[in-house]
Amino acid sequence: MKLFRRLKDYIFQDVKNENETKKAAVMMRCTALFFCVFFLGATVIFALTGVWAMALFSLLLIGLYSAAFRITYLGHTRFACNYLNLLTLFWIACFVVILGWDCGVQHFLYVALIFFCMVTYASKTKKVLFALGILFFRLTLYFYTHTHAPFIILPFWPKFVMQLICSMSLICMLTNLALLFSQDSLEMEQKLIKYNKKIELLANMDPLTKLLNRRAASAKISKMCRHEGSDGQVFNLAIGDIDFFKKVNDTYGHEAGDEVLKGISAIFTEFMEDKGFVARWGGEEFLLVFQGMNGDDAMFLLESLRLKIEKSSFSCNDNTLKVTMTFGLEEYDHRRNIEENLSRADEKLYIGKTSGRNQVVY
Ligand code: GH3
Ligand code: MG
Ligand code: MG
Repeated sequence: MKLFRRLKDYIFQDVKNENETKKAAVMMRCTALFFCVFFLGATVIFALTGVWAMALFSLLLIGLYSAAFRITYLGHTRFACNYLNLLTLFWIACFVVILGWDCGVQHFLYVALIFFCMVTYASKTKKVLFALGILFFRLTLYFYTHTHAPFIILPFWPKFVMQLICSMSLICMLTNLALLFSQDSLEMEQKLIKYNKKIELLANMDPLTKLLNRRAASAKISKMCRHEGSDGQVFNLAIGDIDFFKKVNDTYGHEAGDEVLKGISAIFTEFMEDKGFVARWGGEEFLLVFQGMNGDDAMFLLESLRLKIEKSSFSCNDNTLKVTMTFGLEEYDHRRNIEENLSRADEKLYIGKTSGRNQVVY
């Protein structure tokens, strides 16, 4: 079991060159290994039948495929691929000419074809030309064997066992290639889904406060308005702005200002968890959306949030900072559009700013 795992790790080892894919190397390694096993079987059959020349030729092919296997670790995957294909075409021609069409090895041409299409970076045209070449190669071999007798005629049993190992190796190789290829596509697809989710999250998030950004919040409100017709959901928009925030920056530095923004955002996130959502609307402005309640209820909650912020303190570089906030609250009126509702909340915020700050205007 341990040996099997070590062999698997060795086969699935990554390639040295960054511009070559691991998938191609793994496919080549597996194919080379399958051919080695096939020729091991062939060597035994030929040796038992007393066809020593073919037994030796099979042994030589084991060596040549082992070399192909090794080459993939040396950072020459492209070379290994061409070498593998040429080697496969070469021995198939030799076997068919020597043993005749009945030996069945011509079916390995399909492995070469699929291999070329899956592993190489060649253009579509080149792949189609390779396929036509394989067709021509196969037909030539077929006509050759019908006009020339084989050099060696195997008795029935060795011929039958040869057919058996040919079929088994072929099925194993094609299944393995298909599995490796489909597994890789699935993994890539899953990676892509994960990556897209991450990108989407980053596109919707304000990097400093980790809150939703203005774009994402606007999209959410538009969506809520579209669904409003069906479930008649009531919601409220509140725009909050930190009072005299410029003074915080000027007195304690921009870094301290950032810490306050982060601290306030954390309070908002916790407070709004079961009430709706919050977004960073601009520099030191936030948008709070209270869902499933009327304006009076939202007013009550927002007032308690304002008090919470007033009582909180934020620390940065041994300084303890305290801030207050002013809010403008508007119960969403579906007869008006989103911009109109938002500007009404903004107007109320302005009223709060000009009439003493640190308050909720509803
Ligand atoms: P008011 O009570 O009228 O809102 O006064 P204010 O000082 O808060 O308003 P003003 O619009 O004059 O200043 C807002 C300040 O917010 C100025 C800007 O430097 C600061 N600010 C905006 N975004 C950021 C940020 O991401 N980090 C920090 N540290 N400061 C920011
Ligand atoms: Mg402002
Ligand atoms: Mg401000």
